Amino acid sequence: MEKIKFGKTGLLVTRVAMGGIPIMRLERKDAAGVLRKVIELGVNFIDTANGYGDSEEKIGEAIQGMNRESLVIASKSGVKDKKTFLEHVDLSLRRVRVDYIDIYHLHGVNSEEKMSEVMGPGGAYEGLEEAVKLGKVRHYAFSSHQTETAKKLMLTQRFEVAQIPFNLVNTEPEEELIPLARQLNMGFIAMKPLAGGALEDAVLAFRYLSQFPSVVPDPGIERVEEMEEILTVMENVRPLTPEEKDAIERIRKELGKVFCRRCGYCQPCPEEIPIASVLSIESAVKRAPLKDVIRWGFGKAMEKARSCTECEECLERCPYNLSIPSLIKEKLAFWDEMVSK
Ligand code: SF4
Ligand code: SF4
Repeated sequence: MEKIKFGKTGLLVTRVAMGGIPIMRLERKDAAGVLRKVIELGVNFIDTANGYGDSEEKIGEAIQGMNRESLVIASKSGVKDKKTFLEHVDLSLRRVRVDYIDIYHLHGVNSEEKMSEVMGPGGAYEGLEEAVKLGKVRHYAFSSHQTETAKKLMLTQRFEVAQIPFNLVNTEPEEELIPLARQLNMGFIAMKPLAGGALEDAVLAFRYLSQFPSVVPDPGIERVEEMEEILTVMENVRPLTPEEKDAIERIRKELGKVFCRRCGYCQPCPEEIPIASVLSIESAVKRAPLKDVIRWGFGKAMEKARSCTECEECLERCPYNLSIPSLIKEKLAFWDEMVSK
């Protein structure tokens, strides 16, 4: 499969990466089988995170005996301080059973507050610098759901790779962040290419993403056939047909009223409800085992959601006009059903 030069990292990566979340749901031997097959299909880029349950370990198992240099491995840590960040890098190395990670992200820098902490004295970025100096990590990266924060992080020019949600319903990065990444010669990973499971037509979703030659989506897949389908699209890039453009418009209209982009503009909520997490609960449950979803803090978020007073303060702040209080009720009903099973 075609490889592209990934910005200033100089790495040659395939036009698709393998996302590391859904393999958490698979048995160990099945996860290794899927990963090996995906690599056999030509994908050389694997993206995981310290916080994705046993994903790093499963990747470690799958790549045993392979030529390390032929793979590009990315991981992440969401901690804010230098010391714990360095501990997480070591943990990633042990779990993946490698002596370096190609790309390491500051994970989920979703607010200016978190940005100041991770980039400030004693923050996680210092840990990343140290890990690069020690040869444990090769390239600097961050991930963020928040466009403004992502832009500020990019403009620091202290990162080589940005990972940001981008798909046919979450098109915000198209305007500014993708051109900025090109201008700064940064690698760009499109997180949530299927909008966290909201997009059912994978062919159309990847047909859309294939129009951006410098962007590498990292779909999380559980079955090899899913990756085969995606690769067929990404290997046969052509302009969108008028029918495809119409279909995209229809999906945007349908999902536009209910799809949370996790941008965070609705905050602050007087009840301190993490609105984006609450509204994303179905996609989290679709992608990972319930115990991990709870460990990631969604359980607490859902409990917090019960304190919504329907004050509607968040409504006017949401640029997508989502009916947040009623969506919160729907998500709570979904959650109660899930945990009662
Ligand atoms: S309506 Fe609910 S979620 Fe929105 S600001 Fe008020 S309490 Fe928070
Ligand atoms: S509810 Fe609206 S403002 Fe809040 S995170 Fe989702 S899309 Fe953004």
